Amino acid sequence: MSTVLPDATDPAWLADARARAAALDAEDPLADFRARFNLPRHHDGAEQIYLVGNSLGLQPRAARDAVITELDRWAGLGVAGHFTGPTAWAPFHEALAEPMATIVGARPTEVVMMNALTVNLHLLMVSFYRPTPGRHKILIEEHAFPSDHFAVESQIRQRGFDPAASVVLVSPRAGEHLVHPDDIAAAITEHGPELALVLLPGVQYYTGQVMPIGSITAQAHAVGAMAGFDLAHAVGNIELALHDDDVDFAAWCTYKYLNCGPGAVGGAYVHERFHGDPTLPKLTGWWGTRSATRFEMATEFDADPTVDSWQLSNAPILAMAPLGPALDLVLEAGGMPALRAKSRHQLAFFDQLLDDHFAGRVENISPRPFTDRGCQCALRITPSDIDGRAVFEALEAAGVACDWRYPDVIRVAPVPLYNTFADIAGFVAILDRLLR
Ligand SMILES: *Cc1c(COP(=O)(O)O)cnc(C)c1O
Repeated sequence: MSTVLPDATDPAWLADARARAAALDAEDPLADFRARFNLPRHHDGAEQIYLVGNSLGLQPRAARDAVITELDRWAGLGVAGHFTGPTAWAPFHEALAEPMATIVGARPTEVVMMNALTVNLHLLMVSFYRPTPGRHKILIEEHAFPSDHFAVESQIRQRGFDPAASVVLVSPRAGEHLVHPDDIAAAITEHGPELALVLLPGVQYYTGQVMPIGSITAQAHAVGAMAGFDLAHAVGNIELALHDDDVDFAAWCTYKYLNCGPGAVGGAYVHERFHGDPTLPKLTGWWGTRSATRFEMATEFDADPTVDSWQLSNAPILAMAPLGPALDLVLEAGGMPALRAKSRHQLAFFDQLLDDHFAGRVENISPRPFTDRGCQCALRITPSDIDGRAVFEALEAAGVACDWRYPDVIRVAPVPLYNTFADIAGFVAILDRLLR
């Protein structure tokens, strides 16, 4: 239990931090949700201090039953499972639209669960990147996740253009880590007439910076460009209002803050103004046709005017089974407003400990204002004689689950749905011991 219990060598401030954490946990209205998840254990048998929900969220205890239920239905019903029972497979994805739409601030007809994130980015760019010789550029951030770079570059090549001429990169200013929203706006204006698409993250994966989705969308629209967002690190982390922000399209994965399981089925959003547009290019498959007539096997593509028409194949039910219970947990906790309210307290607690006791040792490059950050903190070990990567490895060995991102950041995410204030105090205690 060495990872969580007080240590005789704790300095007084740490004993005080642990006491405050215990008091904050005692009055946390979401405290009971932790027990709804399985926590991995460290080799000494104690629960890990799991601060890596930004990479893979914990397993909801209800996930196993949900998968077993579908295995049993398959065993007992065979093909009849498609149309039998409350979780009939043919309409399985439909039940997920409403909870998912609530979490991303969209209408249920604007959200569908399908495929995986990068696949969905491609499918949506087929529809929303429509380059012409005069307007062919895509604006992304220089430090975008590699998959986003690759998806954008390959889309550009696929349409006969050259990424060297068609990719516009926005970067942090020299010596800085965060992208200035002003610089995004300036780049949109500068490339305006040539800009076909702005594709940015909702939350930056490395720094945890929140992008101003509504204003970026308005700026893109003002120059005649589309606005799409990769919400991998935003969904389940910050409040979103995709419909009201007038976002054209978005895609996300569900295995990070939504706890749906490794490689889980992702999500896609398309604003309803595009749903009935027959001129929009689209890759199509039978699962995109109207559910009422799908099994009549007509060979003319006839779709309902919803985002469901972007579906290609029938849903992978075993992979999709954990989504329902996982999304329900977020909503049962009160949805994103409740989770953000707790996160605000957790980050204030964490920030203060870092400010008061780690000056000159640890720098948090995540934005400081709460509105500009999600729950992830990107920590740099600052003394030049200490190797940050070695600190990360020692943290892992001491029972902290976190992650390392090149070149020099340790990402730690206190996830309000299941992390405690005691997790934060425990992490800080281990970090202090390692740096001393
Ligand atoms: C996690 C993540 C991905 C992963 O893509 P998959 O298609 O789900 O493998 C892509 N982009 C961003 C920004 C991510 O954070």
